[in-house]
Amino acid sequence: MERELILRSGKKLAGKNNIDNKNGTTLSNGFHDHKKDSDIGLPIYRKFFDQIVVPFLLILVTPHVGILFWYTHRQCDGSYAKLGMMFTEKSFLSGMYEIWYRTLHWPQDGLCFYILIGYSMWALFLMAVLPGERVEGPVTPKGNVPVYIDNGFKHFVITMVSLAALTVVLKQYGMSPSVVYDRFDEILLILNVFSFIFCAFLYLKGLYSPSSTDCGTSGNPLFDYYWGTELYPRIFNFDVKVFTNCRFGMTVWGLLVAIFALKSYELHGFVDSMFVSAFLQLAYITKFFWWEAGYMRTIDIMLDRAGYYICWGCLVFIPSFYASVSLYLVSKPVNLGPVTSLLICFCGLTSIYINYIADWQKQRVRQTNGECLIWGKKPNILRAKYMLESGQERESILLASGWWGMSRHFHYIPEILLAFCWSLPALTENIMPYSYVIFLIILLTHRSFRDDTKCGMKYGKFWAEYCRKVPHKIIPYLF
Ligand code: NDP
Repeated sequence: MERELILRSGKKLAGKNNIDNKNGTTLSNGFHDHKKDSDIGLPIYRKFFDQIVVPFLLILVTPHVGILFWYTHRQCDGSYAKLGMMFTEKSFLSGMYEIWYRTLHWPQDGLCFYILIGYSMWALFLMAVLPGERVEGPVTPKGNVPVYIDNGFKHFVITMVSLAALTVVLKQYGMSPSVVYDRFDEILLILNVFSFIFCAFLYLKGLYSPSSTDCGTSGNPLFDYYWGTELYPRIFNFDVKVFTNCRFGMTVWGLLVAIFALKSYELHGFVDSMFVSAFLQLAYITKFFWWEAGYMRTIDIMLDRAGYYICWGCLVFIPSFYASVSLYLVSKPVNLGPVTSLLICFCGLTSIYINYIADWQKQRVRQTNGECLIWGKKPNILRAKYMLESGQERESILLASGWWGMSRHFHYIPEILLAFCWSLPALTENIMPYSYVIFLIILLTHRSFRDDTKCGMKYGKFWAEYCRKVPHKIIPYLF
């Protein structure tokens, strides 16, 4: 999707009931907003925990995660045990001092800045100029309908081909994009500092110059900084979340996978473990961009405001963590052999296919108003009513057959299996290359609860009925 989001104003929908639309403090049914907490009367200690303790701890701790990850890889031979020993030998604080002030390279010249600024300009340029189909996102709680230009796939393909071309050109002059690997710590530092400032900017923008009526404050600056003050902010008509989530986070993940594979090739020649892992990750990211219009209907976009949680996550956490298996494999090449390689590729590709088809079934049934076939049969659907904040009633289809009849988030299973498949080439010497899979299991389990809460509040008794039909969250008959 390109240059964003044009919001078809929901203002005309407002005013049907006694809703405070100035700052979004009251919701019809809690649909889509953190203010749901106050609506359902959570105890004060719970609000203190959710809106102060959690944001504070996450903002404090998360910037260290990517850095510790890089440090483990570069200084501890990819072993968390060695990292732990370093902290045991020194104290925790002197260990952190050692990492931040003695080991990390703070940028000494402009190269890493130019790389990051250059890439961002490139992505914004493609967002603005590439043609694509016009697609509508889901109606927001305030009745706005975000509109996108679906040009993400073109952006990704052009960007990856351009990286290949750039590599050929740079090599003529004795240079290589693998400098990103060599100076990855500098890149992480710049991303961290930039993202902190950018999130502060977004916080203020949402308060003083919001792009749509889907904005507001909780009255708690810490929580607002963390969660965001706008659902769909735009800057110079560029959609912030399309940029941070897709054109930066997801694309940089793909670029890093390719660059780390290049570094491995420069060091060791062809290594099948690196190839298998990179191939599966790039296949997944390509699928993501093929389906990007569908991504605009997921929790990241519909529920999460553009604050530290999602924007820092996409600008810093994805680049520092998601390509971690490839980072690890650069210094730990493994020879898998053709049979194992093919087997892992087959399992990985099957997982991508199932995950994609599950996402597709949900979209298809809504696009056709239930007039389609799912697994060769008429779909089992539920027409669920919900209300916008304006009090206006809307209807959505909930699919209760196909992959969506197995469990409410069956598609998370292939997502996890796939991540396992691209980690497996690192074999079992260290747990570090499995960090992403472990993280993903936690993230998606938590997400299944978040989505249940969100849908329960949005659809009420209809969601309860769906849950009766499809009783398990992720694993059929188990969970
Ligand atoms: P989902 O695809 O699970 O979609 C959730 C939304 O879909 C709900 O909020 C609801 O929205 C709608 N919905 C829920 N149940 C049904 C149903 N039975 N029929 C029709 N619509 C339904 O969202 P996610 O954002 O969690 O996942 C999207 C994709 O992204 C998945 O493939 C997932 O695996 C992947 N993912 C990857 C992550 C990663 O870091 N690698 C992290 C998270 C997700 P509505 O309000 O429209 O009804």
